[in-house]
Amino acid sequence: EQTRSVILQCDDITVDFDGFKAVQGMNLRLLEGELRFLIGPNGAGKTTMLDMICGKTKPTSGRIVFGSAEITRMKEHQIAELGIGRKFQTPSIFRTLSVFDNLEIAMKQPRGVFATMRAKLRGEDRDRVHAQLAMIGLETKASWRAGDLSHGEKQWLEIGMMLMQEPQVLLLDEPVAGMTDNETEKTGELLREISRTQSVIVVEHDMEFVRNFASKVTVMHEGKLLKEGSMEEVQRDDRVAEVYLGK
Ligand code: ADP
Repeated sequence: EQTRSVILQCDDITVDFDGFKAVQGMNLRLLEGELRFLIGPNGAGKTTMLDMICGKTKPTSGRIVFGSAEITRMKEHQIAELGIGRKFQTPSIFRTLSVFDNLEIAMKQPRGVFATMRAKLRGEDRDRVHAQLAMIGLETKASWRAGDLSHGEKQWLEIGMMLMQEPQVLLLDEPVAGMTDNETEKTGELLREISRTQSVIVVEHDMEFVRNFASKVTVMHEGKLLKEGSMEEVQRDDRVAEVYLGK
């Protein structure tokens, strides 16, 4: 842990929506190659945190530093270009195009941009697409129409599209929502593999899923940091139990 450097740092972040503080004095430090889970009850401010890191929402106060760059006031597309990728719950893929073409398009675009275009692929580009297909478990479905994939496969395809753009930090909002048990397990394996080369923040509702990882967990409640630690530490905390069980 000590040898890994901080890749993303949120300092004393507050997000005020017309007098309602969705996030209040939040701090978060993500290390290089870390897979972090962000949990907490509905309305805790988790999605607002992701929105803020990717530039979709601006903090009212506080500071966000990515690598050596302060990104607090940068535009969403600038932050994407710097290497922070955000995946929303609903997959945004080109349903009428093939799985292969979806990955190719992502590779050929600037980070954060997925727009259709045709270009001649060089051999090494083709190899990159195939390597990505293997990583997301869709190598046998390269020629499938993306719209015909299962819900889980669509999610993997979009993650694959993001990975083609080689972000340093990936922000994922409930990636296993609506997945079958088998798809959930495969997504866990994919997240582990991604975190070997990238840093990831996952907003997650499914506690059973989070328990499968040795990762650090950040618990938010009413816009604030409630607890941070391993899943065991977090679960032992009385305040966390109170928030989740409503005691
Ligand atoms: P979570 O992801 O933990 O469920 P959110 O970050 O989505 O929580 O929301 C935190 C709180 O902020 C909620 O009470 C929500 O209603 C409120 N909120 C989120 N976005 C806005 C907005 N654009 N305007 C006003 N209130 C908002």
